[in-house]
Amino acid sequence: MKITLSNADVQSKGVARVERLSGEDLKKCYQCGNCSAGCPVSYAMEIPPTRVMRMLQLGKLDEVKAANSMWLCVGCLQCYSRCPKGCSVAAVLEAMRQDALREGADRVEVKDLPMPLLKKAPQQAIVCGFRKFVS
Ligand code: SF4
Ligand code: SF4
Repeated sequence: MKITLSNADVQSKGVARVERLSGEDLKKCYQCGNCSAGCPVSYAMEIPPTRVMRMLQLGKLDEVKAANSMWLCVGCLQCYSRCPKGCSVAAVLEAMRQDALREGADRVEVKDLPMPLLKKAPQQAIVCGFRKFVS
């Protein structure tokens, strides 16, 4: 993939905001790949954890926001436990998800969920899903 860089991207307020909300220093990541290797859902992510960190380092926030990665992360912290630099991709993705929800980008519309599913799904899963996907 060809990446075009500009100072405005690399020093963008959006990326600084992700760092502030997550408490993570993106520059610490040195791309070892341990997070992606251990992530149970990286196979389904359009941008796996290691690349999330790299693209944010390069200021490519919009591309990461447009991908499904932050919605698929299950918050298992496997990435954090495996990172030799103490980075938490989980915290980064959680910060991005919270930001998107605050902007009103709900991932699901509660009213659109089929009643048979709501009746069958475990209550804990429903509550967790609403916390994660609805503002
Ligand atoms: S917390 Fe998210 S990104 Fe980290 S390993 Fe688990 S699913 Fe993957
Ligand atoms: S494990 Fe840590 S240092 Fe390695 S790629 Fe992932 S975030 Fe970066």
